[in-house]
Amino acid sequence: MSSIRTIAIANQKGGVGKTTTAVNLAASLAAIGRRVLLVDLDPQGNATMGVGVDKNGLERTGCDLLMGEAGFADCVVRIEAPAPGFDLLPSNGDMTAAEVGLMQSDQRERALAEALASVADAYEIVLVDCPPSLNMLTVNALVAADGVLIPIQCEYYALEGLSALLDTVEQIRGSRNAGLRIEGILRTMHDPRNNLANQVSTQLVTHFTAEVYRTIIPRNVRLAEAPSHGLPALLYDQSSRGAVAYQALASEVLRRRERTPSAA
Ligand code: ADP
Ligand code: MG
Repeated sequence: MSSIRTIAIANQKGGVGKTTTAVNLAASLAAIGRRVLLVDLDPQGNATMGVGVDKNGLERTGCDLLMGEAGFADCVVRIEAPAPGFDLLPSNGDMTAAEVGLMQSDQRERALAEALASVADAYEIVLVDCPPSLNMLTVNALVAADGVLIPIQCEYYALEGLSALLDTVEQIRGSRNAGLRIEGILRTMHDPRNNLANQVSTQLVTHFTAEVYRTIIPRNVRLAEAPSHGLPALLYDQSSRGAVAYQALASEVLRRRERTPSAA
């Protein structure tokens, strides 16, 4: 029985803040002493670069693990900052090979779940940064996860595509992973001076109420700058509004988890 909590950060729309959330939530959890594994499943390798790992200099990536060509210990990278106990399963362009390879395998939807089962004792929380598509890699994340965190940018087309994602979650709950639930809906890149953003934000709360995190991630230039330094925001500018917001989110995620423990 696994004691780790695995959260897939998913939304098939690109540019909604998945990677920013994965990197900064992971770092914020590590900073308060949680043992965290950040899994980069996007061939773009943005989360990998975002924690300071050169995606082009990697001998092994999560692709090798998913394809059964290497063990976890050979693929994992220790990040160490902001605190020891923060590890990365990295990604780069090779991950597209895993997406193709998984299509041909029997265990295609369970490859990540199986790979993570072997490290159940090593981490308290696993965060999976998904690619911007509902492909086999995202399905692997949803099968391995017990919760899905959905970042949403409060803009006009924000809700478009959400029902396809929720349908996919429902389908996976019904067939492969009965324990999967909506971890939370996160409002990202929020600008309170923008009326439309406020309307969409209100609409989300009306429709999804309890699932919407109270923490709102503001639009903050520090969050956009930090990745170019290979740093999570709390190591780049700890007092920035973005860094503070992700630390608040980390507390909220943990508080919710304590209220509603998973069925594991
Ligand atoms: P996704 O992973 O969903 O494609 P990203 O996290 O990469 O989205 O974010 C898309 C772009 O927006 C990136 O350039 C990122 O630095 C920037 N960004 C994300 N969140 C914020 C924010 N709260 N404030 C300002 N810029 C942000
Ligand atoms: Mg991304």
